[in-house]
Amino acid sequence: MNSGSSPILAAGDACLLRVGAVADDRGERPGPWLVRVLVDRFGGATISEIQSDRSAAVDLDRPGAVLVPAFVNAHTHLDLTDVGIRPFGGSFDAWLEMVMDARPRTAEAIRAAVVAGVRLSRAGGVVAVGDIAGAPGSSPELAAMFALDESGMGGVSFMEFFAIGARERHGIDTVHTAFDGLPASRNVRFGVQPHAPYTVSNRGYAAAAAIAGTHGAPISTHLAESPSERRFVADGEGPTRDFLERLGLWTSAEEIGVGEGLSPTAYLARAFGERGRGVVAAHGADLSDEDIELLAQLHATVVYCPRSATYFGFDLAVGAHRYRDLLDAGVNVCFGTDSIINLDTPDRISPLDDARLVVRRDGLDPVTALAMLTTYPARGLGLDPAKFRVEPGSPIEGILCLPTDEGSGRGRLAGVFENGAAPEVLTLAAGRAVNDLPATRGDV
Ligand SMILES: [Zn+2]
Repeated sequence: MNSGSSPILAAGDACLLRVGAVADDRGERPGPWLVRVLVDRFGGATISEIQSDRSAAVDLDRPGAVLVPAFVNAHTHLDLTDVGIRPFGGSFDAWLEMVMDARPRTAEAIRAAVVAGVRLSRAGGVVAVGDIAGAPGSSPELAAMFALDESGMGGVSFMEFFAIGARERHGIDTVHTAFDGLPASRNVRFGVQPHAPYTVSNRGYAAAAAIAGTHGAPISTHLAESPSERRFVADGEGPTRDFLERLGLWTSAEEIGVGEGLSPTAYLARAFGERGRGVVAAHGADLSDEDIELLAQLHATVVYCPRSATYFGFDLAVGAHRYRDLLDAGVNVCFGTDSIINLDTPDRISPLDDARLVVRRDGLDPVTALAMLTTYPARGLGLDPAKFRVEPGSPIEGILCLPTDEGSGRGRLAGVFENGAAPEVLTLAAGRAVNDLPATRGDV
């Protein structure tokens, strides 16, 4: 079995393989199948044909595996990879302080962490990410954005910033300056990420929307993650206010724009107006019916990070995640990992393991789970969903073989989510020019 450190197939390879089934967001096709794969010079591929098994001699024989498209991890923090897996001590504020303390601060250390994160992502079958380039100091830091762009990984690198209370003006000014000074990207798109409704004011969110409008940049944010976030936004009270007071940032509820009884989602929608269309909202755990309607109106993508929610205990504090209600309302929902700190897989960063948690816990339909790993996050990040489908004759961004437990009676794809094995990476695109990935973000 491949260790995951590098794909089995190289650029230019042709390969005939036998698999037990083929699956994508449209369904599972039970085999066995013979699949002919041609790898292009970027590591992407074309599946030239899929035919029924005639016991031909094959280059790779995986009769127990399901062939699927590569994954997209729509929310992660690769610059925290070198912090490693850490236990949660029980206090979110203390955890945030730990991260601020432990995160890399020099450009060199940040670059090394992102490179390590890209390696672990590829080991997890991930070909594109929504990566948050964190701000270790008081201003946005570009090293993580450049490192991702140079890595060959696809997707979006979001410039994170904080702008609240006493530091609001500074936060807004520095993110504008930093974004205006960005060079053209090669492999990823550059986006902007106001950190969260408890660290970015109304005016900070409006500034992010203005940057998105000016530069055509995608926007991401953390949203509706915890009860303390809801309390802070609605009442301007609670542990989050205490935290801001300790940091010397708190000014007044009126000045910051909280304390008006709004939910975090309503706060976001009010600050964005029309300009927040297509926002990628990480978590979206604490949502009312009205919030779900607002997210649908914003054409938002919600990135559900189930291992993160479990790690922090937010799934118990705010109740079961409403991903099914969001999907029913027409909101694009996908899986993300959040940072490695909250994961349980030291050898990979893959939303596959988040999907496994949900399929096992909730009995989520495996085809929907696969969509939430491929075409849905692709759409959320402005990638072409067609490149995350198994379609003979059409280019695909990567191909994985997923080992499966047989005998479940629910089909091979269901078995993929019942075991904990690493994906076997046949090929993943790398170094493809960003312009080759047409933006199709927008309508869900
Ligand atoms: Zn996050």
